[in-house]
Amino acid sequence: MVNTLSRTNPDSPLETPAAPSVFSSYDLDLAGTLAKLRAWPDLKTVGLQFPDGLRDYAAEIAQRFEGELPGVAVVVNADPSYGACDLALNMQKWVDVLVHFGHTEMPSINHLHTMPVIFVPARHRADVSAVTVKAAGELPGRRVGLLTTAQHAHQLKEAAEALRKAGFEPVVGVGDNRVAGAAQLLGCNFTAGTSVEPLVDGFVYIGSGDFHPIAIAFGTKKPVVLADPYTNEVRDLGGKMDLLLRQRHAAIARARDAKSVGILVSLRVGQERMLLAKGLKRLLEQSGRRATIIALDFFSWDNLQYFRHLDALVNTGCPRVTTDDYARYPMPMLTPQELEIVLGRRSWEDYAFDEFKGTKPAPKGRARVADV
Ligand code: SF4
Repeated sequence: MVNTLSRTNPDSPLETPAAPSVFSSYDLDLAGTLAKLRAWPDLKTVGLQFPDGLRDYAAEIAQRFEGELPGVAVVVNADPSYGACDLALNMQKWVDVLVHFGHTEMPSINHLHTMPVIFVPARHRADVSAVTVKAAGELPGRRVGLLTTAQHAHQLKEAAEALRKAGFEPVVGVGDNRVAGAAQLLGCNFTAGTSVEPLVDGFVYIGSGDFHPIAIAFGTKKPVVLADPYTNEVRDLGGKMDLLLRQRHAAIARARDAKSVGILVSLRVGQERMLLAKGLKRLLEQSGRRATIIALDFFSWDNLQYFRHLDALVNTGCPRVTTDDYARYPMPMLTPQELEIVLGRRSWEDYAFDEFKGTKPAPKGRARVADV
């Protein structure tokens, strides 16, 4: 069956590659995904899940899938999705397979669910080589640790080759099994960087925005330079880390007198740490404080306002909610490591980011770039 969408909607961004839409910049491999679904045995219902940047196109992609998969129902999950950590498992009662767009697999959580998932990363088309070389020039040595996200991971070989030609030594690390591929950073996991930290003079992060490079900057004392392939600009994080650490210090100070604490547990499959939450509750109670474990799916003040009488929150879910969204909550929100500081079990000098590790440690040493 032909795609009816292109006939009914000639302005569709899916059908007009020159259109100024996300699809002119990203390769989503819709054709490859449809081929996998056509070969799926006895396929009746497909679930689709999108990150924020693609939700505008969700209905259109769903219509295209239904047009190309006769007799198959397509159901879109409209909840926000920020990572492979929040697979829409509540759809598994209806769908034979979930197509999760925008992120790569998180192998460490595969044993926690039985729903088949097809991951469709959004691969950016921009060339990364020139800006990577430019960024490497800002480092104090020639050994360059490369880091990126799923959007640019397919261009690592080109980036490494360009660095070699310019006289640098590219070093690509492999993270633990929370990340799918070499050199990949998550906002909560920088093991692809720390696994090669002793081998590099600094890191070049290929991508845009501060969200991912902040993660590695928390985990290393080596310099981190950002190479933005969208703007071809090179920069560092400026005073951002100092500001973040000052904010964390203030949150810890505000929580010191807390008598009644909420411990947040995420219901999302790749963020859930109930055992840790129970351990923190014991620690709080041993210190004479009251503690309540609060489980929720979507972290927002709308959902948490009913707990406004609590003096502080400790978040065992996505650590970036704690560090990046703290201003949305009137009471201090801490990571588990920050709670240890409040309770006198860790010193401020020993401050550590709440890194979300996989179940298998990262192999130490560099990956062969040929394997990237
Ligand atoms: Fe991203 Fe947070 Fe999920 Fe980590 S836990 S993958 S930072 S959304």
